[in-house]
Amino acid sequence: MHGEVVSVTKLSPQMVRVVLGGGELADFVDCEDTDAYVNCFFLPDGAPYEVPFDEPTIRGLPREVRPFPRRITVRRWDPTRQELTLDIAAHGDVGYAGRWALNAVPGDRLQFRGPGGGYRPHEEADSYLFIGDESALPAIAASAEAVPAGRPVVIVAEVEDAAGELALESPGELEVIWVHRAGRHDDLDNLLADAVRGLPRPSGLVDAFVHGEAASIREVRRVLLAEGIVAPERLSCSPYWRRGHNDEQWRSIKAAWVREVEAEPIVVR
Ligand SMILES: Cc1cc2nc3c(=O)[nH]c(=O)nc-3n(C[C@H](O)[C@H](O)[C@H](O)COP(=O)(O)OP(=O)(O)OC[C@H]3O[C@@H](n4cnc5c(N)ncnc54)[C@H](O)[C@@H]3O)c2cc1C
Repeated sequence: MHGEVVSVTKLSPQMVRVVLGGGELADFVDCEDTDAYVNCFFLPDGAPYEVPFDEPTIRGLPREVRPFPRRITVRRWDPTRQELTLDIAAHGDVGYAGRWALNAVPGDRLQFRGPGGGYRPHEEADSYLFIGDESALPAIAASAEAVPAGRPVVIVAEVEDAAGELALESPGELEVIWVHRAGRHDDLDNLLADAVRGLPRPSGLVDAFVHGEAASIREVRRVLLAEGIVAPERLSCSPYWRRGHNDEQWRSIKAAWVREVEAEPIVVR
């Protein structure tokens, strides 16, 4: 399926909002999950084809001209206008997805597969904890908007600096703690975990969504489980990307990484 860029908005220096419409979006079937994502195909420079393309045919081309798949969260689907909103992190002059978003203009086309997903805030939870970096902010924002009214929601979000902070809304009692990377290049893996350690302990059933950079969320997972803040069955946690690896490199080792993290013995204090 493909859509055409309707608008491009720079939400922050690191985050670009792209709204797609037209194309085949009349056939888009939304899913109920607030972390729903589409698998987008980004074309390398000089690709000898354009969107829309026939996937099986393209699969037979040499690797260097095949599209590069990247998962991007459905920030919003508007069924009336048949428009799909994607918020894409731009991280300098690298990355097919990031660079595409930075350079996107109305009329550009994007082909994708999906959506898939796996999380929605648990209706019965007493409070919600949403943690991650820019890559997870679209899912965190959509999740915060979907909690029952009046319940406490704490978001701990890592961004570059104050300019990276986004407006977040929730029908719940929302508290947002922003963690800044700028000037903190010594121990990036622990920025989010340190902020989580400092949180007042929530009571009752806590539902947590923790996604983003692999090493960072591994540290957060350790804190949440070791401190008994979240029960393992109420923790949705997965590594979206890995520092120093592009998506192809990361996907080739991701399953082994996840197995290792899940096998880690956690002693509850
Ligand atoms: C289910 C799911 C949903 C996702 N939803 C979103 C989303 O809504 N928006 C979004 O922006 N990302 C999202 N991501 C993450 C995104 O797919 C990856 O970050 C992807 O690697 C970006 O591709 P790229 O082509 O820009 O960079 P790549 O070519 O994969 O990587 C190039 C370089 O940039 C680094 N890099 C990759 N991502 C980031 C980042 N976020 N910040 C800093 N450096 C980075 C890499 O480590 C590498 O060094 C999601 C991932 C998953 C699994």
